[in-house]
Amino acid sequence: MGVTELPAGGPNALAVTLGLLGDEWNLWILRFALLGSRRYNDWLALGGISNSVLSSRLAVLTAGGMLERREYQQNPPRHEYSVTRKGQSIWPVLITMWSWEKQWAPNEIAPLPPLRHSTCGNDFTPILRCKECGEDVDVRSLDSRMGPSGDFSRSVPEATSRRRSTKSERRPEILAHTMELVGNRWSAAIIGAAFRGARRYGEFAEITGAPPAIVADRLKHLTEIGVMETRPLPDRPQWSEYRLTDKGTAYFPVVMCMISWGQRWFRSADGPDIVLHHKACGKRFEARLGCSACGEELRSSDIEAIDLTTSVHVPGSGWS
Ligand SMILES: [Zn+2]
Ligand SMILES: [Zn+2]
Repeated sequence: MGVTELPAGGPNALAVTLGLLGDEWNLWILRFALLGSRRYNDWLALGGISNSVLSSRLAVLTAGGMLERREYQQNPPRHEYSVTRKGQSIWPVLITMWSWEKQWAPNEIAPLPPLRHSTCGNDFTPILRCKECGEDVDVRSLDSRMGPSGDFSRSVPEATSRRRSTKSERRPEILAHTMELVGNRWSAAIIGAAFRGARRYGEFAEITGAPPAIVADRLKHLTEIGVMETRPLPDRPQWSEYRLTDKGTAYFPVVMCMISWGQRWFRSADGPDIVLHHKACGKRFEARLGCSACGEELRSSDIEAIDLTTSVHVPGSGWS
């Protein structure tokens, strides 16, 4: 399955991307699909996921074109799922989320294993780069403007918060803080606004279009988990502005990998949601990742998955 055309005026690439990737179970299923899980029982045997959650997420990922369903037995009918190129190409998102979570929100009980680059043999963190010129980039290196489908009301997924609110569903909790940022539509909107330069409460409310109580609640929560911090306003010291902390700023590669993936696979009929240029080379920005140890560009086949095959299922801890 190739690029999906999105109707003009509807949810844009960012909204669809957040809907698919802002769900822990979707990421969990994809992660193990990339490691070789194909059949329903392969995922079930990993533990932690219920039948209803697995069925619903496999359907979502198949409809989203990330998995392809094929009948391998007729009587009784049995299906297996293979990862499409679209599904395969989310590895930079998984790798940057993994690395950020490990560095900034370490889970003491079930620590994430390190990522290893087989080409150089070292553990690494992924470094965000420009595909065109190969330079390292951060939030200041890019020029971003809103495209024709970039309106915020079209950038927030409808489904994620609704799905997340099902109290009876267990959660894998592997990427707990990542999900605080992308698994909630308004948190994701606030983070997006912060990367676009919003500082003051009113700016967040205006850019996101979120109800005031929700903006206040999300800013408070993002401050509590250390992604944002408050500082007194220079001109009105009794008021505060909100800034991304180092932890929040370090999330930038995840956001960029998600945007690049979304733009590659989903296209609004009325144009892109966000237009990014790399200031230094002047070209349209597309994310690539480099190895922090040797500097080479990372390819999925060079990232060792040995450690990742051991499920971090710890009974009674994060999986409860
Ligand atoms: Zn460049
Ligand atoms: Zn390397």
